[in-house]
Amino acid sequence: MHDLKLSKYMYETFAIGSNNQLPISSVCNGQCIFCSNNMNPFTIYREGFRPLADIKKGLALLNVGPNEEIRIGDSLPGRISEGEALLHPDILKVLRLIRERFPGNVIQMNTNGTILEKSFIEKLIPFKPLKFTISYHSDNPKFWCKIFKLKENKYKIVREAFFNLSKNGFIIQAALVPLPHLVGYDDIENTIKAINFYTKDVIVYAPGYSFKATKELKAFLKSDYAELSRFIIKMRKKYGMNLELFPDLLKPIEFFPYRVMQNTFFAKFKNVLWLFSEAAFEKGKKALQEWNDFVPNEHHAFLAKNDTYRGNIICSGLLMVKDYRKAIKKALSEFKKQGIKIDLIVLPSNSFDRYGDDLQGENHSKLNEEFKLPVWLR
Ligand code: SF4
Repeated sequence: MHDLKLSKYMYETFAIGSNNQLPISSVCNGQCIFCSNNMNPFTIYREGFRPLADIKKGLALLNVGPNEEIRIGDSLPGRISEGEALLHPDILKVLRLIRERFPGNVIQMNTNGTILEKSFIEKLIPFKPLKFTISYHSDNPKFWCKIFKLKENKYKIVREAFFNLSKNGFIIQAALVPLPHLVGYDDIENTIKAINFYTKDVIVYAPGYSFKATKELKAFLKSDYAELSRFIIKMRKKYGMNLELFPDLLKPIEFFPYRVMQNTFFAKFKNVLWLFSEAAFEKGKKALQEWNDFVPNEHHAFLAKNDTYRGNIICSGLLMVKDYRKAIKKALSEFKKQGIKIDLIVLPSNSFDRYGDDLQGENHSKLNEEFKLPVWLR
């Protein structure tokens, strides 16, 4: 009889309903100053290296089209600590297993690049197409070492890895966390220029920190989101690169509420309360106001602050049920004073997994029980 218990990796795969992720490691050899593993306000699982038997089970869940990537370095929704897939002691066996079933799909992994020595890169050639998303936050060795808390010999390996990967026909993407208060904008531009030599594809993550960050760390990690967005616009045009910034407060919002607004009317709701994260609030509110005249019922926007992480965390993916609870209480009381009786609450769906749980495992249905109001996810 097989053991029918699910590993945490399997549970998380089901919870997010992913069809292209096969995480294999939550072990990392870096100690980045901004690593979320150290700043999470609640315990995250340190699962070590995923056993081969469990990887085989995860492999059976992959359901990708011929042009889709298989991602083996993702940390899933944020309950298992981030890690380096390349450190897995059976990495070559894992790649072989994937290739047996998916001979042509790109296999993608996030990496800090520090084990991508020439001899190791050569061992990976039979498994192409492989795509490496290399975390590279400064091209200056002094800053690189400070950010990763690693020695300069590791910096040299990464620097050479860009060249060796490129020479051997691997796909390269870069991930950059710009730290203007630590390295300055000139250094960030130099880093973008250095990356541009090997790839035009860069994901830029604005530095985030929770209330757990020390004062010194906050000073390094603080950033003006609008200023950062303007800088990235300039770099995008100047170097002709695809620089995708998260969160990007100046980017037009992809939010089209009209159909949901109509559906709330057909379901006979009169006053609908929409909750938004700090990142989406202003634009979400504007979109609701613009469409409000085109539906017969009324729609009201309200801000849900992230009280769990605090710090500078503003995206909806990290909002918890308890953050929404606080915002709803406040909203209901404010609207009551204006004579408005809210009869439906609408929340962003990306705060929850497929089971309706937030990252701490609390289900959004609790809000429905507590406030005696229906809750929809959009
Ligand atoms: S490379 Fe990623 S997982 Fe490793 S310490 Fe840095 S941020 Fe954390």
